[in-house]
Amino acid sequence: MKENLVGLTLAQCAHYAEGIGEKKYRGRQIYKWIYEKHAAAFAEMTDLPAALREKLEQTAELGNLTLVEKDERSPSGSVKYLFRLHDGYHIESVFIPDSPRRTLCISSQAGCAVNCRFCATARLGLKRNLTAGEIVDQVLRIMRDVNDQITNIVFMGMGEPFLNYDPVIQAANILSDDNGLAIGARRMVISTCGLSDQIRRYADEGHKFRLAVSLNSPFQEERERIMPIARKWPLDSLLDAIHYYAIKSRKIPTFEYVLLAGINDTRIHAEALKKLVKSMPSKLNLIPYNPTVAQFSRPTEERVNEFAQWLLPLNAGLSVRWSKGYEVNAACGQLAGKQSEWIR
Ligand code: SF4
Repeated sequence: MKENLVGLTLAQCAHYAEGIGEKKYRGRQIYKWIYEKHAAAFAEMTDLPAALREKLEQTAELGNLTLVEKDERSPSGSVKYLFRLHDGYHIESVFIPDSPRRTLCISSQAGCAVNCRFCATARLGLKRNLTAGEIVDQVLRIMRDVNDQITNIVFMGMGEPFLNYDPVIQAANILSDDNGLAIGARRMVISTCGLSDQIRRYADEGHKFRLAVSLNSPFQEERERIMPIARKWPLDSLLDAIHYYAIKSRKIPTFEYVLLAGINDTRIHAEALKKLVKSMPSKLNLIPYNPTVAQFSRPTEERVNEFAQWLLPLNAGLSVRWSKGYEVNAACGQLAGKQSEWIR
């Protein structure tokens, strides 16, 4: 099997070059071609000797995602991509242009084991973790397709990033490396459903990427019903871990709150949420549900606005994120709704 060079760090590229009998600096050249110049083929690496390009052709590959479908129906300009992995599983990514930002929502796993009740991806179960290369390749492929730089990355596609911790961090480091893609670390968000131990680890390791936590209810019992993983990571321990992160990293975490009609959109919820958000420096994103699972629906626009009003005054930054990917079924944890029959 050919070695996939997408997803290798600078040191790993140098090591790879040495492994095939080349000087270390050839690895650095390859690294630059992949991440800085977005080369799609070894033939483009014109400052490498022809013999080396030929050797690379025989032994290595530049990513191995296959584009299956591209959905451009969204009037907002969002584009959803369905990729097939080398072993037949599928993942999705969404390009969300919102001038001057060009955000990419990427997947960290094929499927997901977490089982949030409102989430289409959850119905697939976990197929497998993605490699760092498969994560980075989503960005390279889409960057080449839209022929533009990506300014922001959100790990909010398929999967729970903190259940695939090391490859996600390696991919995020590659994406933000100044010698390569150079996407600002502060413009990258890792979104978790709330794994307290990994949040503490993330804080201890001092990463610069932003952290978002999917809260979805201020009440433990209800959160367990919507997100069964809350049984393992109860709200108290989660809030302690987020607080720990805020202090240790000196960064402001973001709470995400998917508004589900008739479930978590009452005044009682707003009052409790307000208290919780005020308990630490934080931001709050309200995300009206993108309907993909039959028993859940999106609140009316009036209710969403009312809910936001109930939260005021709030020291924390508050925003309502109408999903830009709504028309193509793309929003946090809500991908793969339509494509599930393709995904094995
Ligand atoms: S919302 Fe995210 S963590 Fe929850 S099941 Fe869906 S993909 Fe997994």
